[in-house]
Amino acid sequence: MKKLHFTPGPSQLYFTVEEHLKAALKENIPSISHRGKTFQSIFAECTENLRILLDIPEGYHVLFTSSATEVWERIAQNLIGKESFHFVNGAFSGKFQKIVSNYKKNALIKDAEPGEVVDIEKVLIPETSELISVTYNETSTGASHTEGDLAALRMGFPNQLISLDVVSIAPSVAIDFSQVDTFYLSVQKCFGLPAGLGVWVINDRCIDKAEQLLGDGESIGSYHCIPELVAKAKINQTPATPNVLDMYLLGKVAHDMVVKGTKQIRQETNYKAAVLNHMVEQSPYLSHFVKNEQNRSKTTLVADCSVSSSKILTALNAKGLVVGAGYGERKEQQIRIANFPTHSKEQIEMLSDQILSLNI
Ligand SMILES: *Cc1c(COP(=O)(O)O)cnc(C)c1O
Repeated sequence: MKKLHFTPGPSQLYFTVEEHLKAALKENIPSISHRGKTFQSIFAECTENLRILLDIPEGYHVLFTSSATEVWERIAQNLIGKESFHFVNGAFSGKFQKIVSNYKKNALIKDAEPGEVVDIEKVLIPETSELISVTYNETSTGASHTEGDLAALRMGFPNQLISLDVVSIAPSVAIDFSQVDTFYLSVQKCFGLPAGLGVWVINDRCIDKAEQLLGDGESIGSYHCIPELVAKAKINQTPATPNVLDMYLLGKVAHDMVVKGTKQIRQETNYKAAVLNHMVEQSPYLSHFVKNEQNRSKTTLVADCSVSSSKILTALNAKGLVVGAGYGERKEQQIRIANFPTHSKEQIEMLSDQILSLNI
């Protein structure tokens, strides 16, 4: 039996991927040279569709890496000289801080209580911090920032670089990317694609910063440093041989999402989140981990369990439904359910019905 994945990444493939994958094999996409014209048009199509879908502001550059984790390391090398400031709401925002710290840079932290986000407006950030990092949707806890947080941050810190992780949220909610200097995602979350491709978007201030660090005699890395990535992106190429197949698929899926419309995708996301939230409130086994409704993720529902999560996972698995366990130390105490664009309203309703009919 083919199972339906509601895991928060990798997840169920976007429903058009199979068809695009067949076409890609027919067109021999995995064998083409990344220095040829066909690849350049794949690159151009992919970036163009992402620009439309995500409403990427004019003057921002779209770059490709192997993952979001790689972007963390590239930001540490290219955009932080001595000090950065990290809003840490869980494991993913914490991992970025650790990478910067590994580079012997002063990575300051403001930690949230578990299942909460830091109240951005109440935090004092030193002027010496060159970059401020925010993780919009903390996939490990299901705690999410809001649009207002970003506007407040930009207003308070016009001179510092603001970095935004949108890995498990874009394009499911509207985000005004002109409020940040750089943002990034991995394709195996909301885009429903095979893992192994990261999208990194930067503005000119990021290019200036990398060049300033280089001028100061700092190492900013080699093949995937900002100047190399940007120079190649200008001719629709990448410094190294990239995941051409995933870039092809991303261009196609981004186009499918543009045709469907972000308005529709976001309305459905809200509807499905409401169905899941209601289910949690009805279930004798579940309760919300993120208590503050405003900060409850639309795309990653995290619930505390009154029985071991593996019992719930096993019972659902027998019905062909795969949901995620809790993250890290909360593996046995929680479940996590993805609400990504590929998950239809009917599938989410069916999953909710099945969870409510569990008898463990
Ligand atoms: C999954 C995830 C990442 C890491 O993505 P990789 O593709 O594994 O590098 C980073 N941030 C968030 C919020 C995530 O959910």
